[in-house]
Amino acid sequence: MRMRWILLLLSLLTPVAAAAWVIDSGHGGNDDPGVSGCGTLNEASLTLDVAVRLKDDLSGSTLLTRRSDQNLTWSERIAIANERRTDPFISLHAEVAPGSAAKGVRIYVLLPSLAELRLPSAPSAALGDLRLRSLENVALEYAVESDHMATEIQAVLLEELPQVPVKIMRGLYLPLLGVEAPTVMIGVGFLSNQEDCQRLTDDRERERLAKLLAKALKEYKRHRHERS
Ligand SMILES: [Zn+2]
Repeated sequence: MRMRWILLLLSLLTPVAAAAWVIDSGHGGNDDPGVSGCGTLNEASLTLDVAVRLKDDLSGSTLLTRRSDQNLTWSERIAIANERRTDPFISLHAEVAPGSAAKGVRIYVLLPSLAELRLPSAPSAALGDLRLRSLENVALEYAVESDHMATEIQAVLLEELPQVPVKIMRGLYLPLLGVEAPTVMIGVGFLSNQEDCQRLTDDRERERLAKLLAKALKEYKRHRHERS
């Protein structure tokens, strides 16, 4: 049975408390270790490590899409977020680039300007069989809040990690359309860059990154309450 249907069945049988946060660590399982570099480091294990630390640092009910080296499709990750009515959803990844110059944290978010959204007429294959009530409505509903969250994360990281470049990448990232909550995808660093490798292979630095992300996410929620 597919994960989505198992979750749906469980949600019908038992009252499911809404998750304050859903933290997704990208990739996982034998077939999908993600990108690799920095010696033996791979994206799946790195992002799981940061996700577990982040979960510990966030108060309230926090759910991880995966707790071990298991494979989930993107549709299954989104289904977990939507079935648990997450608010918000954070997906962690790492990156590599040609050459070694690219470094730092990148925060991927849907375009905040709703007028700029030009959705394709048919859902992307990347969305798999996920049935969405309306891609467009979901995107419009959460794009602005997602951008607020990205900006909050960038501000905290730039202040606390001045040596690490932190860029917000705004675009039409189709997978992000499926989540019914403010959503960001965070590239925690480049495994093709020496400085990022030093940062990401150091336990204390990963702990620090997780603490800063938790701080930024809590501030985002506090500011959102003030805006509403
Ligand atoms: Zn990835």
